[in-house]
Amino acid sequence: MNIIIQLSYLIASVLFIVGIKMLGRTKTARKGNVVSSIGMFIAILATVVQVEAISLIDILICVLIGSTIGLIIAKKVEMTKIPEMVAIFNGFGGLASLSVALSDFWLNTQQRGLEVDNITGISVALSILIGGITFTGSLIAFMKLSGRISGRAIVFTGQHLINLVLLILSVGIVIFALTDFSNPNYMIILAVLSLVLGILVVIPIGGADMPVVISLLNSYSGMAACATGFVLNNNALIVTGALVGASGIILTQIMCKAMNRSLMNVLLGGFGQTSAAGGEVDGPQITVKEVGVEEAAQIFDSVSSLIIVPGYGMAVAHAQHIIRELSELCEKNGVNVRFAIHPVAGRMPGHMNVLLAEANISYDKLIEMDEINDDFANTDLVFVVGANDVVNPAAKTNPNSPIFGMPVLNVEKAQTVIVSKRSMGKGYAGIENELFGADNCLMLFGDAKQTITKLVGELKEQG
Ligand code: NDP
Repeated sequence: MNIIIQLSYLIASVLFIVGIKMLGRTKTARKGNVVSSIGMFIAILATVVQVEAISLIDILICVLIGSTIGLIIAKKVEMTKIPEMVAIFNGFGGLASLSVALSDFWLNTQQRGLEVDNITGISVALSILIGGITFTGSLIAFMKLSGRISGRAIVFTGQHLINLVLLILSVGIVIFALTDFSNPNYMIILAVLSLVLGILVVIPIGGADMPVVISLLNSYSGMAACATGFVLNNNALIVTGALVGASGIILTQIMCKAMNRSLMNVLLGGFGQTSAAGGEVDGPQITVKEVGVEEAAQIFDSVSSLIIVPGYGMAVAHAQHIIRELSELCEKNGVNVRFAIHPVAGRMPGHMNVLLAEANISYDKLIEMDEINDDFANTDLVFVVGANDVVNPAAKTNPNSPIFGMPVLNVEKAQTVIVSKRSMGKGYAGIENELFGADNCLMLFGDAKQTITKLVGELKEQG
């Protein structure tokens, strides 16, 4: 039976890896999801067979409760709220690892009176430490992203020192624990310390650094699960945890590069501290030129190259489908249409890619920032849809700007820029955008979906 269980884990792991590979392309992404789900189903089945301590009925009740909650959340959650959902799911992953490791440790040492070897003991300590940090850190990230607390960096004197002392204390406790695993108090103190650390580590990170935090917490949740895999001696958990941990770290690297920040810089926090995420800071007055739908349609009709820059506002407006219609219409008129994708546009890594793929916009048309940034200068028209921070030239020109140094799309270099947004509202970093006052920039005010629907209607009439 053990051979069959281990073989099932191996098959599940292979399916996870193949699934992840398939997720890398729009065409195969849905199938990739199914392949990974089958892998998970096999892993769960094998675990259910393997576990003897709990009755099948108990497991089924838990699966039923968990699946019902998951299904309701998945059905109800709006596309714009997915980043918060990801943040909280990471947190629950961390909490699960912490709880499972702690309870397994308790069961073995306190109730069964078993000896714990060093490897298991260290794995328990790591599960608790990383799981705890992931849980409370993710809760803070969730609250920041959902606006329940201010999105700005919260800093105070001595913060780094306190964090360092807590970390040293945690390591010290693990070392103490190594000498006496039969004493559960060490692990409980470690759990409390890790929960406090999670809060303190994430509160100084704010503003435009949040994408890095989300991917880092995602990686932590994987590492915690991997450590728990060692505690339970469960190969499937070790492999899946390692996969999540490694892919999260790769994503963190990509996000850091996108923000032009080192990971250490992000972790030390303070970014966005002078800004106020949520648009609370007043800047210099910017005079803008407005454009109506009719006039905008005439401009669209007269160009031969167009770059569309989607941002968070496109997600809010659910404008991706009408944008596809607009792009197809322009292509029919002989316009070369491409989409410029900033790595941190929206509110989660890959946010724009997911939305545009959902609207069946071909992946070949989505061009990453590094690849397209030099092309803006040779482009007739740039259409910015609900993007703000990622097209803010202050990141390049104003050393006092909180986003100074973050690479942005060079949209201002195009011949004409049309910006679709509802008002002069600020972006996530809460700062003014001088692009909107530039000579070649025209503001097309209104909800993106409604305005673009009118624009498409107008273009059809003109065509
Ligand atoms: P921004 O948040 O900078 O700007 C979005 C703009 O969309 C707003 O200025 C708003 O202006 C406009 N908008 C809102 N609703 C609508 C609507 N219905 N129709 C039209 N426009 C609308 O978005 P960006 O994508 O440019 O930048 C992303 C920001 O989020 C960056 O600062 C990034 O660091 C941060 N972030 C990114 C994460 C990620 O992983 N990608 C995670 C966390 C934060 P108005 O109100 O006037 O309409």
